[in-house]
Amino acid sequence: MKLTIALGGNAILQPGQNGTAEEQFHNVLSTSKQIAQLIAEGNEVVITHGNGPQVGNILIQQDKAKDDVPAMPLDVCGSQTQGFIGYMLQNSLHNIFNELDLNKNVATVVTQVLVDKNDKAFQNPTKPVGPFYDKNHADKMIEEKNENWIEDSGRGWRKVVPSPIPKKIVEAPIINDLVRNGEIVIASGGGGIPVVEKDNKIHGIEAVIDKDRAGCLLAQEIKSDIFLVLTDVSNAYINYGQEDEEALKEVKVKEIEEHINKNHFGEGSMKPKVQAAVDFVEGGGRKAIITSIENVLEAVHGNAGTRIVP
Ligand code: ADP
Ligand code: MG
Repeated sequence: MKLTIALGGNAILQPGQNGTAEEQFHNVLSTSKQIAQLIAEGNEVVITHGNGPQVGNILIQQDKAKDDVPAMPLDVCGSQTQGFIGYMLQNSLHNIFNELDLNKNVATVVTQVLVDKNDKAFQNPTKPVGPFYDKNHADKMIEEKNENWIEDSGRGWRKVVPSPIPKKIVEAPIINDLVRNGEIVIASGGGGIPVVEKDNKIHGIEAVIDKDRAGCLLAQEIKSDIFLVLTDVSNAYINYGQEDEEALKEVKVKEIEEHINKNHFGEGSMKPKVQAAVDFVEGGGRKAIITSIENVLEAVHGNAGTRIVP
């Protein structure tokens, strides 16, 4: 079967960790061990991943060093995270394949994702990026660079950028070629590098595409059988965090849509995952799964996780 796997932030960096290379390698290795099991079972696998903390750290580096080396814009920083997270996955998977005697190659494709320049998200930037600053810094950036900044629940000021809807994976044809050749591909990290088309050219913009949405599009463009969203909880729940919470197991699209409408899923956390899963199945996908990295194998076998079916 052809699987597209979207890895959440904690597959690479866990809450409370600083983000050293060692920590990230360590997390990526245990994630890769799970994914390798699926590959060993004969599945074709394309991997995508989040990049929130990583791009945040790179933005801090840009800011602190800007008097010595030029700061890079957000699209370039995003491409850097695709490269280094891709490298960590490639390195880990390579070594595991070796151990398992699996004859597979793995490559990362730096991926641009086309968005509509008239997307209404550009009128209303909502996605916080980078570290917290004080009000003076925010005012200065609003004044000098025409940026958008918001006060984030008493913790300080953060820059916000638009989060447009992904329309097309620019590198989809080459990703498909690699998959057809039986190779493992890492693509569209951090939701992809957002680009818009103008005068027959594409160029990077300052925006962040939701990685679950972009993952769904990637899964569709490579015609995956299953779209997997891996995060830090084993299931999507209804009444989450309450005494009567209930883990969803195998659910039909119609049923989970009712749960979305009743606001059972956290805005900006579980809701985009459930919505992406629904979009995949409604677009003709066979099954979407939301589960934790530890449960991925059992979930593909139909024995764990939240499995959304037509
Ligand atoms: P990721 O980094 O994998 O994208 P998120 O933090 O964005 O992870 O989303 C996963 C989180 O969603 C869980 O840790 C959980 O706290 C939260 N969440 C909100 N609503 C629900 C729900 N109904 N069921 C399960 N988890 C939920
Ligand atoms: Mg998230």
